[in-house]
Amino acid sequence: MNPHQALIDGYRRFRLGRYQEQRLRFDALAKGQSPRIMVIACSDSRVDPATVFDTEPGQIFVVRNVANLVPPFETGGGRHGVSAALEFAVTQLQVEEIVVMGHGGCGGIAASLTGRFEGAEAGEGGFISRWMEIIAPARDRIREAAKMSPDIDAQRALEQSAIRISIENLRAFPFVARALAEKRLRLTGAFFAISDGVLHLLDPEQDRFVPVEVATEPSAA
Ligand SMILES: [Zn+2]
Repeated sequence: MNPHQALIDGYRRFRLGRYQEQRLRFDALAKGQSPRIMVIACSDSRVDPATVFDTEPGQIFVVRNVANLVPPFETGGGRHGVSAALEFAVTQLQVEEIVVMGHGGCGGIAASLTGRFEGAEAGEGGFISRWMEIIAPARDRIREAAKMSPDIDAQRALEQSAIRISIENLRAFPFVARALAEKRLRLTGAFFAISDGVLHLLDPEQDRFVPVEVATEPSAA
């Protein structure tokens, strides 16, 4: 089936299925949203936050971009899509938590590591290359470290460093800093490994990603 048709068919299933079942929820949502959590995730089609966190419409305010990055706090130039969403989430919706969710096998991170689009023109990878400059210092460090010890998984190291950098960048937004100081907001680093479906959370004390335990994992046998 062609992908456009699959999309429209999916909409029809939604209208006849979930939309009807959850009519009350959708009617309430029509009056406004009050999600308590913001999630910043990658555009990658395999890491949909609503699927990973099993949420319903209205529960999470989501920004997705290449490699789930938060840019530095900047007021000049540019059109700041991520910053606008962040400002709305923190100052208007007053979310209580922001989750930055990275993932395994990230194409944006791979492009950063390989330098595949470095110096490319806009439309030929230049937009990706410029966007990924947000994590350039970490990439350079990890590249160097991987040269010295080849057993380092540079891809995984940079995927996880990018989450830490995004969280540090979040702290630099004055309205985020204020909400943190007033203990109205918490920041969470998360990493979803597509290969095994395991979610890890960044433990700030140990500065490492710890898997979230699941009580009854259905066995593959
Ligand atoms: Zn990605």
